[in-house]
Amino acid sequence: MAQTSGDAGGDAIRPAVRDRRARPLRDLRISVTDRCNFRCGYCMPRDVFGPDHAFLPRSELLSYEELGRLVRVFADLGVSKVRLTGGEPLLRRGLDALVSLVASTPGITDVALTTNGSLLAGHAQSLRHAGLHRVTVSLDSLDPTVFAAMGDTKVPLSKVLDGIAAAADAGLSPIKLNTVLRRGMNEAGLLDLVEFARDGGHVLRCIEYMDVGNSNGWDRSEVVTSAEVLDQIAAMHPVEPVAAARPGEVAQRWRFLDGRGEFGLISSVSTPFCSTCTRARVTAVGELYTCLFAAHGRDLRGLLRGGVDDDALHAAIAAIWGARDDRYSELRGLSTVDLPKPEMSYLGG
Ligand code: SAM
Ligand code: SF4
Ligand code: SF4
Repeated sequence: MAQTSGDAGGDAIRPAVRDRRARPLRDLRISVTDRCNFRCGYCMPRDVFGPDHAFLPRSELLSYEELGRLVRVFADLGVSKVRLTGGEPLLRRGLDALVSLVASTPGITDVALTTNGSLLAGHAQSLRHAGLHRVTVSLDSLDPTVFAAMGDTKVPLSKVLDGIAAAADAGLSPIKLNTVLRRGMNEAGLLDLVEFARDGGHVLRCIEYMDVGNSNGWDRSEVVTSAEVLDQIAAMHPVEPVAAARPGEVAQRWRFLDGRGEFGLISSVSTPFCSTCTRARVTAVGELYTCLFAAHGRDLRGLLRGGVDDDALHAAIAAIWGARDDRYSELRGLSTVDLPKPEMSYLGG
């Protein structure tokens, strides 16, 4: 049986189930759809996710009611933060209803959304009213041509910028901006993104390009490391590190000494952070993954639809987390790159 303990779990005071490495279960990422209107080459390359790609049929997806029930059980196990993601989560209709369900769940203190921003302008206000606390918008370039190439999309950059502005108007600031830097593609635009974020009061987070899934043809030579990013930014603006607000924080935080905000570096490749990883992921069809790189998930939908009660659901999830030993990024090596892994658009980033 998994150990449950209330200490050293970060900002959450509630007891949490712990895994075999004593990591508490604190964060839940829910993928609400595997569909997307972009085809970012590092995530859903078009030659793999083409017109014939079989996306999940609607009937297979967990309903909002089922997700709400899962969130209640996860909250009882220690989760306080929930992030809705995908695919592109705003392609799922009525997402504010789910936000509202999650935000009203006892124990959940933080509800966040990760989106490509293309549909955000029309939804920011209602999401905020529904109880959304934070939004992260992925933005790989401010150059319309580079943006289109990175996202392999016809959606204009201006739509994403409108979405960011609407989120700020709705009171969702500070907005996090996720940028994946890919060598030879968009790294030349880094400093423009830095200035855009500083001017708008946003927090830029540069993510090292990861070997998620098996379709992006990842090659370490394309990874722009956090050390390189830091060198470039620090050459423009003096910076100093900021202590993590809580254990398990994904980004290393840095602040500009002129007082104009901060930025984050997510260094999964160069500086893995598995030892403090407190994140569980649930796919749109209700599989529980204990690591972004786990070969398989565990079916929760079967339990939900099979009529088990909350105690049984609680026990099943506690057992899965209690057996967790994942630390892929710490073990990453040539031999692991070709292992079967879920696609990020399926699992949820
Ligand atoms: N579609 C939404 C979006 O793009 O924000 C949410 C889902 S997306 C999978 C979540 C995050 O994963 C995005 O910020 C994206 O940049 C990041 N991501 C996807 N593939 C990645 C990769 N191979 N390496 C690093 N980050 C990746
Ligand atoms: Fe879509 Fe997000 Fe993946 Fe880009 S990163 S293809 S926007 S799911
Ligand atoms: Fe967590 Fe797995 Fe990423 Fe390590 S590789 S930080 S265990 S999701």
